[in-house]
Amino acid sequence: MCDQETAFGGQYVNRLRLWESQVGQYPIDLDKYNQGEYLEACRNLVDGDAISGVLYPEDSTPQGKDLRLIQQYFFSACSLQDILRQHKSKGLKLSDLPKHYALQLNDTHPAIAIPELMRLLMDEEGMVWNEAWDITRKMCHYTNHTLLPEALEKWSAALLGRILPRHLQIIEMINHVFLTGEAADQWGENVEIIQKVSIFEELEGGDRLIRMANLSVIGSRRVNGVAALHSSLVKSNLFPEFNELYPGKLVNVTNGVTPRRWLAHCNPCLAKLLDRNIGTEWRTDLTQLSQLEPLASKEEFLDAFSGVRFKNKERLARLIEKECKITVNPNAMFDVQIKRLHEYKRQQMNLLHIISLYHEILDNPYAEHTPRVFIFGAKAAPGYVMAKQIILAINKVAKVINNDRRLDDRLKVVFLPDYRVTIAEQIIPAADVSEQISTAGFEASGTGNMKLGLNGALTVGTMDGANVEIAEAVGSDNIFIFGKTVDEVEALQKEGYNPYQYYEKNPVIKRAINSLMDGSFSQHSPELLKALAEDLIHNDPFMALADFESYRLAQQKAAELFRKPRVWWKKAVLNTARLGHFSSDRSIADYAEEVWKI
Ligand SMILES: *Cc1c(COP(=O)(O)O)cnc(C)c1O
Repeated sequence: MCDQETAFGGQYVNRLRLWESQVGQYPIDLDKYNQGEYLEACRNLVDGDAISGVLYPEDSTPQGKDLRLIQQYFFSACSLQDILRQHKSKGLKLSDLPKHYALQLNDTHPAIAIPELMRLLMDEEGMVWNEAWDITRKMCHYTNHTLLPEALEKWSAALLGRILPRHLQIIEMINHVFLTGEAADQWGENVEIIQKVSIFEELEGGDRLIRMANLSVIGSRRVNGVAALHSSLVKSNLFPEFNELYPGKLVNVTNGVTPRRWLAHCNPCLAKLLDRNIGTEWRTDLTQLSQLEPLASKEEFLDAFSGVRFKNKERLARLIEKECKITVNPNAMFDVQIKRLHEYKRQQMNLLHIISLYHEILDNPYAEHTPRVFIFGAKAAPGYVMAKQIILAINKVAKVINNDRRLDDRLKVVFLPDYRVTIAEQIIPAADVSEQISTAGFEASGTGNMKLGLNGALTVGTMDGANVEIAEAVGSDNIFIFGKTVDEVEALQKEGYNPYQYYEKNPVIKRAINSLMDGSFSQHSPELLKALAEDLIHNDPFMALADFESYRLAQQKAAELFRKPRVWWKKAVLNTARLGHFSSDRSIADYAEEVWKI
C-alpha cells in the first residue's frame, strides 16, 4: 500500500474501481470454426469485449439497445458483488450493510442495481423479501439529472425480460408490493394516480415499459435534484405524488466544482495572486474567497486581476490561432459558450444574436462597437440531427464574419473543435462573459456556470438551474439576468407559443433568420441552413425567439460595461469572491449530511 498517495491535502485514500469485461472460458467456437464459419466462431470474442468496450455516447435520448442494458447491468452487478464480497470477508453481518455502504445512483443508468441487490440478498444469501427490501431501501439513493421526458429511461419489459428474466420478476414484485401496500394506503383506488406512480407503463400493443425513474424513487432512501430550482421542480412537476407519499425523501444538493482543477490547476496565475492576497487555504475551503471582497475596491488589485486575465487571453488566442487559424485580439471581449450542444441550451439563440451584431456593424460602421470574440465549444450526440445543424450553422456564419474585412476586427466567431476538459481548462481562465442561456426550467444545474464565474467571468444568463443561486450569491448588479422565468415559460406554453409572431414583429430577428435562408452564409448551397431557420420560425421548442429581445438587451449592457474597465473588473473580482459556495467539497459535505447521514 506504500505506493498510495492521498489526493490534495486529503487524509484518506479511496478506491475507485473500473470494470472491464473479457471473454470467458471458450472464446472460440471450435465446431463452427471447423465448419469454416470463422466470423461466427469468434462471436463470443467480439461480444465479450463489447460490453465494456464502448460507453454509449448518447446522453440525451436513451436508445433501446440490448448492449446498453447489458452494460448497465454489468457495471452495477460488478460493483454490488464486489461490495458484498468485501463486506463478508470482514466477517460483518449482511444486515449491517447500510451502516458501511451507501449506493448513489447517478441518474437512472445504474437503477438495475436495485433489483440486482434484491437478487443477491435473496437468491444468493437466502434472505426473505422484507429483510432484503429493507436493506436495499436503506442503501440506495438516487440523483435526478433531468426533467426532459425524452431523457428519462424506460426499458421495454419484453427486452429486459429476455436479457435479465430474474430481474424482471423482482421488479414486478417490487411494483406489486408497492401498489398494493404504500400506494393503496395513500390513494386507495384512484386509478389515475396509481397508473402514474406504477413502475410499469402499459402500451397499446401489449408490451410494457419499465420506468426506471419510478423504480429509483421507490427503491431509494433519498432522492435529490442538483440545484434549488431543479429540486423544487422535481418535487412539484416530476414526482408530485411521490413527494406527497414520502415527505422529506426528495431533497436538494446543489452541484459544485472542484477548486483544485477549476482554479488552482487551470488558472495558475490567478491562483498565485490569490495566495499572495488571501493565503492558500481557499484550495480546500473555497469560502475563503470572501476575503477578496475588500480588494474589489483596490485599484492595484484590479490591475493585477485584469493583468492575469490578459495573459490568459493571450494564451487562448495562441491556441485559437493554432487550432482554427483565426487571429483574435486579446483586448476584445471574450464571450464564451462551452457546453454540450442541445437545443435547450440555445446555442442557436447566441448565433442569431451574433448575426444581428454583424448586421448592426455593417449598418453603422462608424458607431462605437465593443470588439468581441464569440467562442464556442460543443459536441453533439451522434444521432442528434438538429444539434449537428446548429454546429454547421455556427461554423458557416463564423467563416463569413471572420473574412469580412469591413468589420475591422470588431467581431470574430470561433468554434473550437473537439471540446473536452483539456480545452475547457484553457478557455475558462480567459473568458470575460459566460453564456448560460438555457430556457428556464430545462437546465438542471449546470457546472460550467460555476467554473466560469469562479474565474471571474460575468454571466449573461437566464433564471435557470444553478444560475438562480449564482445570481443570489453575486448580487443582481454583478450578473446580467434576462429572459422568461419558469412560470412565464409555462404560461406561454399553455397559451400556445407561436414563434412566427416574433419573427414577423421583430425586424432584427427577421433579418437574422432570413440571412440563414438566403444563402448569405452558404453561397454554394443556399438551402444548407434553411431547415434550421424554418424550425426556428415554425417550431422553436425552446423559445429562442421569445427570449431574443431580452437577450439582446442584456448583451448590450455587458458590451457597454466592458468599455468601463474599473467597473467591469470590480464586478469580475466580486464574482470570484462570492462563489465560494459552489465548491464540490461543500456539495459532497451536503451529500454526507443530508443524503447518506454519515
Ligand atoms: C463542466 C463541463 C461541462 C458542463 O458544462 P455545462 O455548461 O454545465 O453544461 C461539459 N463539458 C465539459 C468538458 C466540462 O468541463
